[in-house]
Amino acid sequence: MEYVDLRSDTVTRPTPEMRAAMANAEVGDDVYGDDPTVNRLQEMAADMLGKQAALFVPSGTMGNLAGILAHCQRGDEVILGKQNHTYLHEAGGISVLGGVHSCQLDNQPDGSLLISDIEAALRSDDPHEPVTRLVSLENTHNHCGGTVQTPETTRRIADFVHPRGLKVHLDGARIFNAAAALNVNVKELTAPVDSVMFCLSKGLCAPVGSVLCGDKEFIKRAHRLRKMLGGGMRQAGILAAAGLIALQKMTRRLGEDHTRARNLAEGLSENHAIVLDGAPQTNMVFFDLASHVKLSTAEITAKLKDYGILVSASGPRRFRLVTHYWIDDSAVERTVSAFRSVLQ
Ligand SMILES: *Cc1c(COP(=O)(O)O)cnc(C)c1O
Repeated sequence: MEYVDLRSDTVTRPTPEMRAAMANAEVGDDVYGDDPTVNRLQEMAADMLGKQAALFVPSGTMGNLAGILAHCQRGDEVILGKQNHTYLHEAGGISVLGGVHSCQLDNQPDGSLLISDIEAALRSDDPHEPVTRLVSLENTHNHCGGTVQTPETTRRIADFVHPRGLKVHLDGARIFNAAAALNVNVKELTAPVDSVMFCLSKGLCAPVGSVLCGDKEFIKRAHRLRKMLGGGMRQAGILAAAGLIALQKMTRRLGEDHTRARNLAEGLSENHAIVLDGAPQTNMVFFDLASHVKLSTAEITAKLKDYGILVSASGPRRFRLVTHYWIDDSAVERTVSAFRSVLQ
């Protein structure tokens, strides 16, 4: 059966053009800095995000980890949201491997952090306390609904913390979705922050990889950390070749995924078993099961699979459906109709 896979945009397989580029990629040993395709990808990423330099890393998790460790010493503290991916879903790496303490703030429903909460979290110069070094933001905010943070929101936080000696890191796994949703150049979203990580392997369809961007000194430190974490790769140009197409071509089409997410939400809104969060801002549709629904999320997931629809629960009575390159209009229709058959 041909499955409609809405579990995540990480399920995207590379496009035929990417596979051809990978087969023909010019490569070298990237640990020696000799891979021309990796170098081209890093230059293009730095240029597009408006930063001095960039580093290709195997995953978003490693990008955030190397980034946060490049900003912080052991015993330093990073301020971040309780719903942030780095706090929830990166196996506690910043603490386990970096000795970085975290101060977790409540995210607002749109994923943002309040400046008043950040201000209250700042430590004083007291030997009892860790040193506040960094604020880590997320855009789009995955767990808060694929929500978008505007350039102004990001700028206000950066302008508040920079004079207080803190840096700002941005987990921009889906920063190009945010740029597409706001119809702004991605540079506007990244200009206020000191470093940003984005994923090539999600909605941008590349099979592997993320990129960390920042100034030259920061990337030099991150480069050593990448090696320490085991992320120094050899003929990685095979992967970077797909990343170049992701950056050049796939960043321009993300609006289509957002339109389909809205269409999917609209179709599902007619189903009385489903209580939607509201219109999706990007490529994620979140909803809860209405109180009368007796089936568990596991039972619903299994029944939908029989109709060829793959979804995953994001809570005891909650689902997250993610649109991407391989979800076309007919896949959206099939999904709405399968939900109608399984749930009413
Ligand atoms: C997926 C994701 C990451 C981590 O990326 P991996 O490549 O899966 O390690 C980090 N932050 C956010 C917001 C993500 O959605």
